[in-house]
Amino acid sequence: MIIVMEKTATVENIQGVIDILTEHGFRAILHKGDVHTVIDALGDKTTLSPNRLEAMEGVNYVRLIRQPFRLASRDRKPEDTVIEFENGVKVGGESRPVFIAGPCSVENDYGCLLEVAQAAKELGCQFLRGGAFKPRTSPYDFDGLGEKALKYLAKAKEETGLLVVTELMDSSDLKMVCDYADVIQIGARNMQNFRLLKSVGKCNKPIILKRGPASSVQEFLLAAEHIMYNGNEKVILCERGIKSFDHTFTRNVLDISAIPVIKKLSHLPIIVDPSHGTGQRYLIEPMSKAGLAAGADGVMVEVHPNPAKALSDGKQSLSIEQFKEVFSRLNNMIDLLHLDKKQPALKGE
Ligand code: PEP
Ligand code: MN
Repeated sequence: MIIVMEKTATVENIQGVIDILTEHGFRAILHKGDVHTVIDALGDKTTLSPNRLEAMEGVNYVRLIRQPFRLASRDRKPEDTVIEFENGVKVGGESRPVFIAGPCSVENDYGCLLEVAQAAKELGCQFLRGGAFKPRTSPYDFDGLGEKALKYLAKAKEETGLLVVTELMDSSDLKMVCDYADVIQIGARNMQNFRLLKSVGKCNKPIILKRGPASSVQEFLLAAEHIMYNGNEKVILCERGIKSFDHTFTRNVLDISAIPVIKKLSHLPIIVDPSHGTGQRYLIEPMSKAGLAAGADGVMVEVHPNPAKALSDGKQSLSIEQFKEVFSRLNNMIDLLHLDKKQPALKGE
C-alpha cells in the first residue's frame, strides 16, 4: 500500500508511520517530494489495517495496491474455483451452468414440494431450494416451518436425488441445517452478519452467499472473504439485486454487470437469482438469459405449483408449467451460445 502524507506532516509524523509499518513487518520506502511525502509499504497488509494508518497524525490517505479481499481474489488464484458435489455436480469454471429451483418457503403440504422437486429433476436441474427459516420484512408474515421443512427437503432429496439448498439465519441452527442440507444459503439480509459468516466459515458445506440489498461489490467479496478466512473456501456468490431509486416496477435492480466484474476480480463461482432480483415472474426469463450471457455459473429460480397460493413470494415464482417452458428456452440458449465454454476476458483488461 501507499501512504500519502499531508503537506503539513512533520518529521515526527512521518517517522511515526515508518515505525508502525516496521513494527508490523513492512518494508517502508520513503519518497520525499517538494510538496508531498509518500511512503511505500511493502508487506502483508492483513497485519495492519489501513484505517489505523489513516487515523494517524499527518496521514492524508492510504491507497491499497492489492484488493482488500485476498483469499477471494483472482490475483491470489488465477484459475476459477469449481465446487464439486458427491454426486459429480460441479459449479463454476467451465462447467455447464447449474439450475436451482424450488419454492420460496417449504410449506405444510409435502406433496407441493415433491411436485416441484420431481419436475425439476425431470428437467435436469441439480438443486432443490426451499426456505425453512425465512427472513421476513414483516413479523406477521409466514416465517418458515423450521426443522419440519428441513425434513421435507431431505425426503424430497431421497426421492429425486436433487441436492438441497436452504437458508441458515442463526448460528445456533447450523448443526441442524448441516444435517439436512447440501448447500447452506446465507441470505441477502445476513450478508454482513459477521458472526454468522464466521460460523459457516468453520463448517465444511458449500455456501451460497447472496449479495446484500445495499452492498457494493467490494463489500460482497469481503463478506465471502470472512467465510474463506475462517476456513471454508467453498463459496458460491449469488447476485440477487440491489436497492436503487426506482422500485416502481421491480423489487430490486438486478446488477448484471456485477457478474463479469466479479469474474474479473474473483475466482469464485457466481450465480444469478432473477426471482428476488426483480420480484416479477415475467422478468425471470429475460433476466436469467442476461445473467447467463454475462457469465453466470447458474440460475436460482422460485417455482411453486400454485404461485397464487404461495405463502411467500408467489408473485416472483413460476408455476411448474411456466418453469418447464422457461427452462427449455434457457437450455437452448446455453447450447446455442456454448455458455459452458466461458469466454476469456478482453486482452489486456
Ligand atoms: C431466498 O432466497 O429465499 C431469499 C430470502 O432471498 P434473499 O436473501 O436474496 O432475499
Ligand atoms: Mn423468496
